[in-house]
Amino acid sequence: MSNTDILVHTLGFPRIGENRALKWATEKYWRGDISLAELEQSAQQVLAQNLNWQQQAGIDYPACGEFSLYDHIGDAALLFGLTPARFGPLDNTLDSLFSLARGTRINEENIPPLAMKKWFNTNYHYLVPELEADTTIRLDADRYLDQVAQAQAINPAAKPVLIGPLSLLWLSSGRDDAGKLALAESLAAAYSDLLGQLQSQGVEWVQLDEPILSLALPQAWRAAFESVYNRLSTPGIKILLASYFDDISAEINTIAHLPVDGIHIDAVHTENLTATIDAIPAYKVISLGVIDGRSIWRADLAGLLARLAPLYDRLGSRLWLAPSCSLLHVPLDAGLETQLPTVLADNLSFARQKLYELRTLATGLVHGEQAVADDLKAATDARSRLALAEGRERADVREKLSLALQSSPERKNPYPVRAQAQRASLNLPLFPTTTIGSFPQTDEIRAARRAFKRQEIDQHSYEQRMQAEIERVIQEQLELDIDMLVHGEPERNDMVEYFGEQLDGYAFTLQGWVQSYGSRCVKPPIIWGDVRRPQAMTVAWSAYAQSLTDRPVKGMLTGPVTMLQWSFVRDDISREQIAYQIGLALRDEINDLVKAGIKAIQVDEPAFREGLPLKQQQWAGYLEWAVRAFKLATTDVDDAIQIHTHMCYSEFNDIIESIAALDADVITIETTRSNMKLLDAFADFDYPNEIGPGVWDIHSPLTPTAEQIEQRLQKAVAQIPPERLWVNPDCGLKTRRWEEVRPALAALVTAAKKLRAQYQ
Ligand code: GLN
Ligand code: ZN
Repeated sequence: MSNTDILVHTLGFPRIGENRALKWATEKYWRGDISLAELEQSAQQVLAQNLNWQQQAGIDYPACGEFSLYDHIGDAALLFGLTPARFGPLDNTLDSLFSLARGTRINEENIPPLAMKKWFNTNYHYLVPELEADTTIRLDADRYLDQVAQAQAINPAAKPVLIGPLSLLWLSSGRDDAGKLALAESLAAAYSDLLGQLQSQGVEWVQLDEPILSLALPQAWRAAFESVYNRLSTPGIKILLASYFDDISAEINTIAHLPVDGIHIDAVHTENLTATIDAIPAYKVISLGVIDGRSIWRADLAGLLARLAPLYDRLGSRLWLAPSCSLLHVPLDAGLETQLPTVLADNLSFARQKLYELRTLATGLVHGEQAVADDLKAATDARSRLALAEGRERADVREKLSLALQSSPERKNPYPVRAQAQRASLNLPLFPTTTIGSFPQTDEIRAARRAFKRQEIDQHSYEQRMQAEIERVIQEQLELDIDMLVHGEPERNDMVEYFGEQLDGYAFTLQGWVQSYGSRCVKPPIIWGDVRRPQAMTVAWSAYAQSLTDRPVKGMLTGPVTMLQWSFVRDDISREQIAYQIGLALRDEINDLVKAGIKAIQVDEPAFREGLPLKQQQWAGYLEWAVRAFKLATTDVDDAIQIHTHMCYSEFNDIIESIAALDADVITIETTRSNMKLLDAFADFDYPNEIGPGVWDIHSPLTPTAEQIEQRLQKAVAQIPPERLWVNPDCGLKTRRWEEVRPALAALVTAAKKLRAQYQ
């Protein structure tokens, strides 16, 4: 056994700080309450704390340079000049970063921000660098070098991290592949410059992230690695090339022989680790991401140690250990969760805890299992307590599920038959109008919910307040002459949390925040046990709303895939099984809604597309179970019950078959911003059921006119037969104000009536 040390490092760390300190400071700066210097000082404190925590935990090379005050890809866009001309000439400053992120005003004109996109298969969103025809690479390194220097002052071993040049180009917009790759050479030269400057700042190792290696890369991109990495290779600087989020064994030959000094592999997601390691030349460092940087659960340290021991025997000091990816995607500190049942709290491992897990593994490898026996036992014991905890496995849920899945869930009759029954039951006009569910969340509603949560008002007065709001929302919709109504969702602060709180198997943290984008954080619930619905969740609200009117009121639920995607989930059963369990709970809810007289039920799936695996070859498997989970929830109803679904986007081209397979009677989508172009997928496919293409962009503060809406509808009629078209906004209205909602919906109804007159 080799007895050499193992280096432990991180690829990135949460930037939000304790109690989301950086969020509050940033927002204060935006509001003008503190100065730039004060903001920088707060950031400096968070950075110092991050580095100190890592040092205390025995991390040899903590990451630095990824500590962005908004987004590290936006930082990289400024660093290399990948910014569009509409912002004017931009220096690499914090204010420039905020302009890119939030838009700005130049000469009385509103300059829209960079687009944001989901970061691979995470819920983090990055700023999309924009390339233009005349974009040239321009290195502006001072701010980056400063950040690194700041980190070095706290811990001289801090290792600069930067997105790699090919991933940076890939993630940019505005040019096709060839146009992006045309910049690769000069971008590599700029990286080389930067590496040289880091070297003179005393840096030894730099980590370059190429997460696109986890995708199935087109040949042109694969081929670019060699020339780019040859070009940027810089004497005196060692490069650790990192990839993460998925198995990269298919691309190992793309990178194994590049002139880099080390390769980081996501060992959690790489199936054939030994073969992958074997492909790497014997003089390179191999960093194994052994602790899952996406998981909130305590690791099976004994199991990992057994798996790693033979690798350490072979690699010796060439072996480094790390989390699989940046810890950005997990909350900061499980130690703050003082209100969870002990069995659960004992099994959480957030960013700070993962550092110790890594150190334990390294010590165990070098000094033998005995040296860490206590830690291994503590982990094993905690995990087995959770495995046996009441509610982890529920026989009733498992039985019911296996029964429900004996045949594949389908409606009793195909859509055309159902449509007739629904027409008879709902009695809707041509071009029926509806909304997506939520109405403005006013201060009074929020105050009432908060007061109830803090037990300042009792159940009865809370219900009264919510009912008053529902009454108002129904009244407003009747005055607007909308055809299918909603209750407005005043009781929900969040479309996942609301249901999670009422289901068995869920838990909620106090401080489990993760960055979603910029200063925005989310606190996903945790699914730790079998999911079960102890009692009806929405029926009372929906039934009350329906009691106020003869027009149909849609029941409103969050779908199984979205419930899954926007939660942290247990790792002892598959995501598929969890989605089915939620589907089953929703099926019961739908049946209860029907019993209460609700004739149309919407099951929102805004995260349906987000679940797609990174590699397209694996899409089919995911889509199959995702569709099945949705159908498990929605197919157990009679023909006359109309099932709606809603998705907050409209890129459906490559999944349209699965969207059709959901067999929802009506789907509402977001089409305004694309000027209805995104309906093409449905038209080309001959989508058989009803569609409500959004005709009001609710993200924009501009109120649409009836003429604009009518034009959009005319475009839709050119694609979809009128008897299968609905008229609705792009998404829910909870972020808008009543003063905006009323005229916009009035315009929407006017436009629908005009078309009705024309096509009747
Ligand atoms: N029914 C939800 C709402 O209207 C849908 C939200 C969403 O699509 N994200 O708010
Ligand atoms: Zn939406």
